[in-house]
Amino acid sequence: MIRDLLNSIEKIEIPSAERKFGITRVLKRYDGTPVYIRDVEGYEVIGNLCNREVIARSLGVPVKDLMKYILRCMEREKEGELIVNNRLKKEYVEDPPSEIKNYPIPIYYPRDGGPYITSGVVIVKDRDYGVNASIHRILVREDHLVIRMVEQRHLHYIYTKNIVNGEVDVAIVIGVHPAILLAASTSGDITFNELKYASVLMGKPLELVKCDTVDLEVPPGEFIIEGKITREMEDEGPFVDITGTYDKVRKQPVIRITSLKRRRNPIFHALLPGGVEHKVLMGLPQEPRIYRGVRNTVPTVRDVVLTEGGCSWLHAVISIEKRTEGDGKNAILAALASHPSLKHVVVVDEDIDIQDPKDVEYAIATRVQADEDVIIIKGAKGSSLDPSIKEDKTTAKMGIDATISFKKNREDFIRAQLPEE
Ligand code: MN
Repeated sequence: MIRDLLNSIEKIEIPSAERKFGITRVLKRYDGTPVYIRDVEGYEVIGNLCNREVIARSLGVPVKDLMKYILRCMEREKEGELIVNNRLKKEYVEDPPSEIKNYPIPIYYPRDGGPYITSGVVIVKDRDYGVNASIHRILVREDHLVIRMVEQRHLHYIYTKNIVNGEVDVAIVIGVHPAILLAASTSGDITFNELKYASVLMGKPLELVKCDTVDLEVPPGEFIIEGKITREMEDEGPFVDITGTYDKVRKQPVIRITSLKRRRNPIFHALLPGGVEHKVLMGLPQEPRIYRGVRNTVPTVRDVVLTEGGCSWLHAVISIEKRTEGDGKNAILAALASHPSLKHVVVVDEDIDIQDPKDVEYAIATRVQADEDVIIIKGAKGSSLDPSIKEDKTTAKMGIDATISFKKNREDFIRAQLPEE
């Protein structure tokens, strides 16, 4: 339960905040640090919940081992165990669907299309592909929802496949364990069961609650919204994306609410768009994919990070134990190929701390000759999230090989150190 986790992590406590912009002000001020707001129109709200430290702690691994732990768990997804626990039902009360307008759902920024659910884990089922869990932004209207479904994503695929036979059962769970948020942010192949993966991440079976009005079993979050995704389309947006800039208005599917459940004293999870939590949840699941891609080419790769400054999406730093001249360049090419949204990559030696942007800049400052160490690739497919993308949707990609050249004397690069005391 999210309440247990809340008691075990460091957090800022705030007595109250306004739903409109007030939650945003608090979350922006403490971006990266969990914030517990005691009262938002009568509800408790948690924000900035997931950073690397909280995720690592909630999974019981040191931060420095997080990426490799995630990689191992992804490979064992099928071993996850799901158990439907009927006793969990007693912990919930039912609200009329119209009650959703009184939930503490934030209006984050002035141009937003309305109040938005940003931490909802959206669960659907398909006869051939099984269960899918993913996070999508959801616009809240008076008595219905409008969901942003990015084309090609699993939810969009399953919706498009099933809507021809009628409305699609859906459940949206708000206020779940970080392992479930991380799992739902992970894109495997379409049969990848995110809930089983969450169980592997947590190292124990994941208990599920059976829904009443739709044929789904879902994690026992703080709020459970059951409904039907319809053929109807309505305006969705504008809304702020990971880069902190606005995404445009589009026609998106309407969800009719069939049941609204919450715990007796529920904690609502507000996830700040463009904040550290958003970035960590988007970026962290990509790091193992990049690591795996680079490892196929440069087996001595040590670590990968999608940096916060690069929106945890567009910039990667990779450390390798360089064995032969050219390893740095190969690592650049492999990284760009394994995460197509990647725009700029820096490859460094293993003595550089890739979690420290200053140390990475130090490597660029002292180990790079731009005429030899920078690769630029023109006209590649870019990320739709990058506001500087060209009109034909392509982008230039750049790799910086900031490893020490084997043509140089390695001694000249060793940093002075005191002996251990
Ligand atoms: Mn999926």
